[in-house]
Amino acid sequence: MITRFAPSPTGPLHLGHAYSALLAHDMAMAAGGTFLLRMDDIDRVRSKPAFEAQAIDDLRWLGIRWPTPIMQQSRSGDRFRAALQVLEGKGLLYPCACSRSDIAAAADAPQEGVPTHGPDGQIYPGTCRHRSMADFQEGDAIRMDLRQAIAAAGTLPFFTETGAAFAGDHQLDADDLLGTIGDVVVARKGMAAAYHLCVVVDDTAQQISHVIRGEDLFDATRIHVLLAHLLNMPTPVYHHHQLVRDDTGKRLAKRDDARAIAKYRADGLAPADIRAMVGLRAV
Ligand code: GLU
Repeated sequence: MITRFAPSPTGPLHLGHAYSALLAHDMAMAAGGTFLLRMDDIDRVRSKPAFEAQAIDDLRWLGIRWPTPIMQQSRSGDRFRAALQVLEGKGLLYPCACSRSDIAAAADAPQEGVPTHGPDGQIYPGTCRHRSMADFQEGDAIRMDLRQAIAAAGTLPFFTETGAAFAGDHQLDADDLLGTIGDVVVARKGMAAAYHLCVVVDDTAQQISHVIRGEDLFDATRIHVLLAHLLNMPTPVYHHHQLVRDDTGKRLAKRDDARAIAKYRADGLAPADIRAMVGLRAV
């Protein structure tokens, strides 16, 4: 078993990160496997060396150990470009110049019960779908045509292990993906690639056998299963864990600095207190 924790160093680690990292670490150790740390620092504008250093320090303080050197996503540019070429070769990509407000303006009036937002924000209405990569302009993002992608992939079964609401067998379906996720961005303006592509390519490069992540990423997992299939890469086992909630049962905000590990450390808590707070057994 090879698991990983892959924070984006764009802010401090908080309790939710601690839970995910400790769980991935505990699962690997219990199986006699390996736990890897990766820095998902592909966003060069928002990633900061200070957050990276703090994350490493917090994880070590929690008792987590990993082999070095750590993989830096920002160094994987060649792998990402190769993956984009494979998808382009299958005719699945198109350039997109839409801004967030263009997308909001072009989206149909919402119908009751029909989702308007997916894991990447507003579901893309397909404005640029007619464009071809030959017409790529500097500053464009690149999107994947999901209907074409799923037609190229066929029906895809996948399995998620234990934990949370999503355990069991699943199938990817084009209409469902288009209605709940939309054509995803695979490369952003000025960046080698975007999150979904990076994570699939790097999980493969690191031979991750089990991806341990929060259940909020379940829709992202569906995209990752599809991308891995199209890129002829293996699909790891996905384990979606429940999210850490506050005392009132509310899910912790991603950027709640009051729950930063650094803050608990400064308040004098011990690593065992953090384990207890997120409901993990003492080691
Ligand atoms: N860098 C991603 C994050 O911090 C990794 C999550 C994942 O792909 O499991 O949200």
